[in-house]
Amino acid sequence: MLNIVLFGPPGSGKGTQAVKLAKKYNLVHISTGDLLRSEVANQTKLGLEAKKIMDAGELVPDEIVIGMIKKQLEEHKAGKGFIFDGFPRTVEQARELRKALTDYDERVTMEISLDVPREELLKRLVKRGEESGRSDDNEETINNRIDVYERQTIPVTYYYEKMHKHVAVDGIGTIEQIFKRIVKEVEGFEKYHQPE
Ligand code: ADP
Repeated sequence: MLNIVLFGPPGSGKGTQAVKLAKKYNLVHISTGDLLRSEVANQTKLGLEAKKIMDAGELVPDEIVIGMIKKQLEEHKAGKGFIFDGFPRTVEQARELRKALTDYDERVTMEISLDVPREELLKRLVKRGEESGRSDDNEETINNRIDVYERQTIPVTYYYEKMHKHVAVDGIGTIEQIFKRIVKEVEGFEKYHQPE
């Protein structure tokens, strides 16, 4: 399997690139943000609880997202692999992902980080809020999401760095330019890193 963690701050374009990567390599795209928004839209108990947290720009508890991920792994275990988008967002989630994949004799192949400066993120997210009406894309929540990212989520890159699985890609440019950079990293990585 090819299992890619696509990593980056809110507004870095992970979602867009994840869809393109999933198509190119025939992978299952798992976005915890999308899974949570679908719970919210269906007004499930979990969704009602999650909405408050998401609107504040905080992280939904680890157990909840890990539970959602395990369900997806079981459903798609016969596939060619996964793109994880917006997950793991804490080191605890990264550890649990490792354990869950091990149950299927699988592992994370690599983690790709999209680098985008904060001013650019703010601009993009405010614009997205105006266009899509996502209730967490307002300036106050956006600032908190970026703070939460820096405090709780950046450590996930150190976790993968220690395992020599971390790669950073410049996230400024057109969608196609950034996609090419990512593909180059995936193909280089596969060639030079045999499974442990
Ligand atoms: P963005 O990357 O723009 O913040 P997402 O759709 O990935 O958008 O996430 C939206 C919100 O959903 C987050 O701010 C958070 O509240 C919640 N969320 C998504 N993924 C996770 C996760 N892995 N762990 C905890 N909360 C999450």
